[in-house]
Amino acid sequence: MIWEELQGELDALQRDGLKRTRRTLELPCGPQAQVDGQPLISFCSNDYLGLANDPALVDAACAGARVWGVGSGASHLVSGHLGAHAALEEKLAEFTGFARALLFSTGYLANLGIVPALVGRNDAVFADRLNHASLIDAVQLSRADSQRYPHADLATLERLLATSTARRKLILTDAVFSMDGDLAPLPGLLALAERFDAWLVVDDAHGFGVLGRQGRGSLAHFNLPAAERLVYMGTLGKAAGAAGAFVAGSATVIEWLQQRARSYIFTTASSPIIACALASSLDLIAAGDARRQHLWQLVAQLRDGLADTRWRLLPSPTAIQPVIIGDNHDTLRIAGALYARGLWVPAIRPPTVPKGTARLRVSLTAAHSEAQLARLVDALRELA
Ligand SMILES: *Cc1c(COP(=O)(O)O)cnc(C)c1O
Repeated sequence: MIWEELQGELDALQRDGLKRTRRTLELPCGPQAQVDGQPLISFCSNDYLGLANDPALVDAACAGARVWGVGSGASHLVSGHLGAHAALEEKLAEFTGFARALLFSTGYLANLGIVPALVGRNDAVFADRLNHASLIDAVQLSRADSQRYPHADLATLERLLATSTARRKLILTDAVFSMDGDLAPLPGLLALAERFDAWLVVDDAHGFGVLGRQGRGSLAHFNLPAAERLVYMGTLGKAAGAAGAFVAGSATVIEWLQQRARSYIFTTASSPIIACALASSLDLIAAGDARRQHLWQLVAQLRDGLADTRWRLLPSPTAIQPVIIGDNHDTLRIAGALYARGLWVPAIRPPTVPKGTARLRVSLTAAHSEAQLARLVDALRELA
């Protein structure tokens, strides 16, 4: 029976320590969480600036609902593109320094839309081996020839580009790698894109709002210009504290995506409430130097606190600070011990990360206090 087959596979996941469980939170997103009545300090969220439950965003969302209602009623190209969306797109273009920006309902959908709109059969995509799942799926959907280069390896990428005979080439990368926290070599990637006349698509889910002057993202961090061949994707459910994503680029590429990205065209426009909250969020991001400074202090506190222990931290300069454990069951055991102490850190296992590199993925946010982080550092030192 086909359903017995599924049950067998589920049992195997359980046996291999790969079964995922979800927990229901009894408080809004923030460092102080509660699950089944148990208070927990959460180091799980991507709400890097602590904006998800910020009173200014909540007010903007409520005010937005009174002006625009709740639903958009249709897709953007039919009649769902409301003033709130248009205003946010203009603000995003201005903030990122690109000619235009286009809103998507989620980052996953944005990536599924961008790649197949830009390349197809007879084209080639050159992708970092550690790219996010949504980019991997996007390449498959595009039917382009997929070449994956070792993580951040510019020399191999150069060789692949030099030998490619593809009609159109596209380099595809996370800007901040979601499970490692390190940065892609964006200046080198852009130089290769220029040299081999390729597109460079950058997914800045974890850099937008956090890195660069005023949180303008990873391109700003490296002082890169808004080049014509650059397609910049940022998500709005992480540091921006709400939901959704945008793609910014030249007027031509954005117009093309608006005409051809299927995940833009065949889905209902996101709620105008979210667009209103995000307009307020962009202001807080731009004025958020104090939040970012506090975040960097926490990163230093964690790294200093674990420096003389057996725990191996990856060389991450961002809010994502993975502690590599290796074995799936060990990782689950340590995450469990932390959880029993009221500290919630996700255990990340294959297939999300390569086999043998299971890890605790600590994410820090500007909403954490030094005292909350000190509790995690103390517990990890004790468990070491
Ligand atoms: C989270 C994430 C996405 C997906 O964004 P959503 O808005 O959550 O769908 C895409 N790319 C990367 C690198 C991410 O971390």
